Order: sequence, then C-alpha cells, then structure tokens
Amino acid sequence: AAKQRGNGPATYDPSIDATSAQTLTLISELRQAVDRNELRLYLQPKLALEDRAVVGAEALVRWQHPQRGLVPPVQFIPFAEQTGFIRHLTMWVFEEAARHWQTLADEGLQLRLSVNLSTRDLLDMDLPQKFGALLVRHGVPAAAFCLEITESAIMDDPQRALATLDALNAMGFKLSIDDFGTGYSSLAYLKRLPVDELKIDQSFVRNMQSDRDDEMIVRSTIDLAHNLGITVVAEGVETAEAWNLLRELKCDQAQGYHMGRPMPVGEFSAWSTSWGM
Ligand code: C2E
Ligand code: CA
Ligand code: CA
Ligand code: CA
Repeated sequence: AAKQRGNGPATYDPSIDATSAQTLTLISELRQAVDRNELRLYLQPKLALEDRAVVGAEALVRWQHPQRGLVPPVQFIPFAEQTGFIRHLTMWVFEEAARHWQTLADEGLQLRLSVNLSTRDLLDMDLPQKFGALLVRHGVPAAAFCLEITESAIMDDPQRALATLDALNAMGFKLSIDDFGTGYSSLAYLKRLPVDELKIDQSFVRNMQSDRDDEMIVRSTIDLAHNLGITVVAEGVETAEAWNLLRELKCDQAQGYHMGRPMPVGEFSAWSTSWGM
C-alpha cells in the first residue's frame, strides 16, 4: 500500500483501477516484458557540486512497449509492486547495472551506480544472497553500487527492512534514503541505519528559491546530513540558479535536468565527455 504523503511524487494514479481489463492486460504484458527484451535501462548523472565531476549515475527503468511506446516507470512500477513482479524487475535492473558498470569502467568512467529498491525487495530475505551471487557472476564490487530506499519502504516493516539493509551494508553496498522529507520521517532510524547518503526530494529543491520554507528544509537537511557524516544529494536541479544556491549551501551532489536527463546507457559516455568540456 502507498504510504506516501506530503508533496512527493504520486505513486498511484487513482483513475486506474487495478482490476480493470486494461490494467490486467498491462500486468500480464509486464510479466513478459523481460523475456521479450522490452525493458530499457536509463542512466541519469550525479555530479559533485564542488568541481562538477561526474561521480555516479542513477539507474532508471523504462518499458519500450511495442504499441504504447516508451512507458515511464510511474505507469508500471506501482503494479509491479502490487503483484510482486518488482522482485524480477529489480534483479533485471541490478543485472544491467552490473553489466554496464564494467562497460563504463572500460571507457574510463569509474562511477557508482544507484539502483532503486522497493518495499517488496526489502522484505525479501533472500535479496542480499541474490545480489551477492550476481556480483560474483559479474566480477564487480558491492561498493560500486548505491541502493536507494524510500522512508515509506522502510517503515512498512522496519524490523525486516533493517535486517535486509544491515546485510547489504555488511556486503559493502552504499545505502541512500530517497525522497527524503516526503515519507514517514522518523529521524531515529537515521541513527540506527547504516546510511551513506540522503537525497533531498525534488519537491523541495524545485521551489527553494521562491519558498522560504522549502529553502529552510533544504538547508536543514544538508546540515543534518553533514552532522551525521552523510553525503547529501539534491534531486530535481533544473536551473543554473538552483545549482549555484546548492553549491553555496555546501550540498555535496546534484542530479537534475539542468545537467543531464536520464539517457540510454549507450549515450552516457558521450554525454559525460561533452559535460567535461
Ligand atoms: P526517483 O527514484 O525519485 O527517481 C527520480 C525521478 O526524478 C526520475 O523519474 C527522474 O527522471 C526524475 N528527475 C530527475 N531529475 C529531474 C528534474 O530535474 N526535474 C524533474 N521534473 N524530474 C527529474 P523517473 O525515471 O520517471 O522515475 C520515477 C520513479 O519511478 C522513481 O523516482 C522511482 O521511484 C521509480 N523507478 C524508476 N526506475 C525504477 C527502478 O528501476 N526500480 C524501482 N523500484 N523504481 C524505479
Ligand atoms: Ca520517488
Ligand atoms: Ca531514486
Ligand atoms: Ca527521488
């Protein structure tokens, strides 16, 4: 169930009834999408604010549907979560990320790739072992990956989620709290969790120059993260002004359309060359 509140991006489209014929078709097509090779991995760059260096990229999935065209994740991730298919999808994304990490490294790009996990993934006690096997198969280190988790995903079943996250942390994965500020904010878990990164939700970043409350939230989150020794990333950086303000506020990293949109993996190294110039 969606437990998001506040101004975070909507997880559900209430106009879509999960039992409608159209939705059932979509769900069954999604199950075949992996075998039919219809999923696409996109990468969006993460930049260091201090020196503009490309430090990582977030893996974001797209569905190249034969009739519907390129379907954005908001239109199928909620169903994948409801049906449990998300576990297969997560494995597909991680497998692709591991494969491309090596390709990018061969091209001289040593990046940390971020992969999104959902509630279901955190409740899957076999996940750490499955991820471990995949790392061995691809010969890549766990530290090359950052796993992004939302607060709501953790709060669904905190005990089990914590067990999974502890295991992943022990393996060497970096952990990130996604959409920070939009979910159930219980700051206590920040101390308990082996978190390496906080991502300030784009809803705060978007309005921080016009809305003083949003600017305060951005400022405070940066301070909170730094006081806890955590790297802080701003999402939804759409303008040079936002970039400059975040730099002044000593935010560590930025992600957003101003620097680079999510792009097919094949375009990433060309983008990174042009960015550096
Ligand atoms: P998210 O994890 O918060 O990912 C960031 C979203 O913000 C992405 O949307 C990205 O394209 C968008 N974005 C980045 N910069 C900007 C900007 O400057 N302005 C604006 N307006 N948007 C920006 P996307 O790719 O459509 O993904 C939406 C959500 O779908 C993600 O939000 C995540 O919750 C979910 N998602 C995407 N890929 C995966 C996946 O592989 N696994 C899982 N579990 N969820 C995924
Ligand atoms: Ca989100
Ligand atoms: Ca994310
Ligand atoms: Ca986010």
